[in-house]
Amino acid sequence: MPKGLLAILALALPLLGGSARAATITVVAAENFYGDIARQIGGDRVVVDSILSNPNQDPHLFEASPSTARALADARVVIYNGVDYDPWMVRLLGADDGTTRRVIVAGDLVHRRPGDNPHIWYDPATMPIVARAIATALIAEDPGHRADYARRLDAVLASLEAIDGEVNGIRAGHAGATVTASEPVFGYMATALGLQMRDSRFQLSIMNDTEPSASDVAAFEEGLRDRKAKIMFFNNQVVDPTVMRLLGLARKAGIPVVGVSELEPLDTPYQAWMLGTLQAVDAALGPPGK
Ligand SMILES: [Zn+2]
Repeated sequence: MPKGLLAILALALPLLGGSARAATITVVAAENFYGDIARQIGGDRVVVDSILSNPNQDPHLFEASPSTARALADARVVIYNGVDYDPWMVRLLGADDGTTRRVIVAGDLVHRRPGDNPHIWYDPATMPIVARAIATALIAEDPGHRADYARRLDAVLASLEAIDGEVNGIRAGHAGATVTASEPVFGYMATALGLQMRDSRFQLSIMNDTEPSASDVAAFEEGLRDRKAKIMFFNNQVVDPTVMRLLGLARKAGIPVVGVSELEPLDTPYQAWMLGTLQAVDAALGPPGK
């Protein structure tokens, strides 16, 4: 190859690489369900990296590493939950100023504060609001493809309405039914379904990785033995010996148990994940009005 041509190639390659990068928007989501929605809205215009995506890990115990900081360095759009669920994200973003990236904090959009139940993606009101914010950020980054983002946002919003339909159906048949849980993961959805939740203090202890009090454990056990709950929800991302024992008691009492996870399962879109959980709840509650 002539020397001149090599020199031209050497000049051109980094430019090609640069333009390839400019053609897509790098999105970093702290949690995989937000990353999933960003991918659904961004399509082939985005490259999405979700930091918390391991369904076998307790997100409440996650510690950011240098690779987390590196992932954030190139991000044009950043999405995280807030409400003290991912405080490492606040620290990483705070440490690095002078960037023009767009940051979406889901908790701020739905007016939740530290101390509130952080599992806001189980509130059916949350994701449509976050989806709109993601579309707005992507359009601001890439206004030339505004119509594509708007079209995919409409499709996402329409598919999220299926979740509301399922919620309304269960609520119509079962509002007022009493349930319990090992952790407050499903709390907002239980409220949306009109279910009465028992054992809230016990749930906060498990979520915060602290020992529940003996009286809270005793009240939980009594509720199961006396079949005061129609479902026991448990966090299938956290293995806790006290919870395992309570699950055994629930099964013995004939109370259906429904596993819920903090993070989106592998290869399951957010909408299908929520609908699958709601269908399990509907089946566990049995015939309406009972
Ligand atoms: Zn949690």
